[in-house]
Formats: sequence, structure tokens, C-alpha cells
Amino acid sequence: MMQNEIRKTDIKSLTLEELKEQMVLLGEKPFRAKQMYEWMHKKLARSFDEMSNLSKDFREKCRESFAYTSLRVVREQESQLDGTKKFLFELSDGNLVESVWMRYKHGNSVCISSQVGCRMGCRFCASTLDGLERSLLPSEMLDQIYAITLLTGERVSNVVVMGTGEPLDNYDNLLRFIELLTDENGLNVSQRNVTVSTCGIVPKMRELAQEKLQITLALSLHAPTDEKRRKLMPIANRYSVAELMEACAYYFERTGRRITFEYSLVAGVNDNKEEARELAALIGHLNCHVNLIPVNPIEERDYRESSRTAVLGFQKELEKNKINVTIRREMGRDIDGACGQLRRRHTKNIVEDVTC
Ligand code: SAH
Repeated sequence: MMQNEIRKTDIKSLTLEELKEQMVLLGEKPFRAKQMYEWMHKKLARSFDEMSNLSKDFREKCRESFAYTSLRVVREQESQLDGTKKFLFELSDGNLVESVWMRYKHGNSVCISSQVGCRMGCRFCASTLDGLERSLLPSEMLDQIYAITLLTGERVSNVVVMGTGEPLDNYDNLLRFIELLTDENGLNVSQRNVTVSTCGIVPKMRELAQEKLQITLALSLHAPTDEKRRKLMPIANRYSVAELMEACAYYFERTGRRITFEYSLVAGVNDNKEEARELAALIGHLNCHVNLIPVNPIEERDYRESSRTAVLGFQKELEKNKINVTIRREMGRDIDGACGQLRRRHTKNIVEDVTC
């Protein structure tokens, strides 16, 4: 986006009500707002030019008053293993973000990024290696889903905010994004099919609990004790595991939604049976589900993924303690499946053509 474009109102981040007010300010009839909203959020127009039933004059007026975000596909990779697709998009200002499309039995799921880079510093994560560049606008989060819907020609029914970035570090834009995504005048994705994953920013988790939303909260726990968690995640120096558990209990109390715990298994760091027992004791009282993910090694760190035996042993130990657990299918591992790997390789000019 050009500098002067940035100062214009970002039209795709407005609610229908706000858009109506804007139309009145432009001297247009309020019904124009509904037409415009449908073009943006239902027909997924990529520019004002595509809005063929709106007059040229009106479109010109909109172009002068509003910024219209859109994404350019820089790269698309398809996994030969499971059909998962990974997209690298360029934003209007030249920054890059990545998103993943996965096909499941119950529908298509998209994993979106919420920021360009990340400032949380988790030790095993590629997205955070260069820090945070900026947060994404609500429209830029929607655009990832809209672009993928157009590219695949298939409806997206599940959205996980689990790509690059910490969504609760971009809280207001995240909430607006969810409002627009689940709006019946737009794509109308069910709130129950939206998952937000956080590294554990406790005050924001509590705030989210009060928003009267039916979304799933996923907590990246990765270790059962403060000491071990601090080795993997700097955020653990700010908030203790005990505070996290209280925030999770509060989220369930307010929303009735079962918490998902994510646990990336790192060989020799957090994957032995004793740690599984500690985890079970920690979360056993909560209505929850655990997702085990063998860590996806990144070349900048020497963490290794747990062996199959360790993963299954960990799972068994949790199950013995009546904890719901699944081992996350490692989708798209042949296409830089781990957070931030594709963008990073592209930026560093070391993308090799593996699958394209
Ligand atoms: N910031 C949010 C969401 C983005 S990360 C969060 O921390 O939850 C999404 C998930 O992928 C998190 O559970 C994160 O810890 C995990 N993750 C990041 N890099 C990984 C890697 N190399 N291998 C396995 N899991 C990873």
C-alpha cells in the first residue's frame, strides 16, 4: 500500500453498520453498503473494478475514499503426501505472509497468520527469528481465507489462527476479523469452527473469555512446569503455569468451550513419561483436549523431534489418566509445514523447488 493509501479507511475491515455510515457520508443511499459488503465478503471481489453492477462513478468515489486490501500469490506448494497446500502471499505493502489449506473429512480448514513475524520468541519457532514486523489488519486476515477460497474453488468451513504471529498480541484486529468472518452477511463461518491459538497472554485470554464468543481457545503449553516452559517460551517468564490454568478454567466457565492444549514434543526436552504424568495432573481437572505435535525441526535451532515410541508413550500415559488426546497429523511436512518456514526461506532466497 502506498503511504497515502494507508491513511484511507480500510473498507474491508468495516462492519456493515459502519459501512452504512460511510456511505451516507459519501452522499450515497445506505443500501449501497449492503451491495458493497456482499461484493467484498460474499462474492470475494479482489478490487472495486470487479463490482460490475455498481456504477463507474460510484466505484471511482470509493477508490478515492477507501483503501482496498488484496493479496498477490507469490508461491503455492502442494504436499505430495496429503494434498495440503501452502500459500505465500504478498500484502499491499510488500510484506509476506503464509497460510495453509488442509482438507479434512469434515471440511476444509485454513490456518492463517495474524502478524508479519512475531515477537514472542518461542525457541523452536521459525516465525519469530526476525522479530515482529507489524500486525495484520482484519481485512488482511480475511484476505488469506478469501484468496484461498477463490484459488481452490472450495468453501472453507474451519479457520485456525495458528500461523505466524501471536493473535492475542493483535487483539482488537483479531476480534474484528472474527466478527466479519462469522457474519451471516459474509462467509458465515460458524464460531464453533474457529480456533485461536495463543502462547498464553493471560490478561487477554481472560478478556477473550468475556467476549461472548463460541470459538475454541488453544493454549500452546508445551511443558508442565514453569521451569521447563521457560526454557522453550520466553512468555513463561511473564505468566506462570498456575495462572494459565486459572485463565483456562475461567474461559471454560464463561464460554462452555473445551480448551485445547497444544504440546509440541521435543526429543529429550519435554517428552518423557514423567512429564506426561505431570501434564495429566496439571490439566486433569479441566474439560480439555490435548494435541500432541512432534516438533518440526528448524535449521536455526538444534531441537529434534521426539521418536515415534516417545510420542506414543506420552499419549498412552495421558490416556491412562483419562485425558483426551490426539496426535496431530503432520500435514504438509514436505512443504515447510512449520510456522514461518516458507516465508523465511523465501526472504532469504533459499526456496528450492521441491514440490512445484
Ligand atoms: N502464537 C500462537 C499461534 C501461532 S504458533 C501460539 O503460540 O499458539 C502455532 C502453534 O505451532 C503453537 O502451538 C506453536 O508453539 C507451534 N509451533 C511453532 N513452531 C513449531 C515447530 N517448529 N514445531 C512444532 N510446533 C511449532
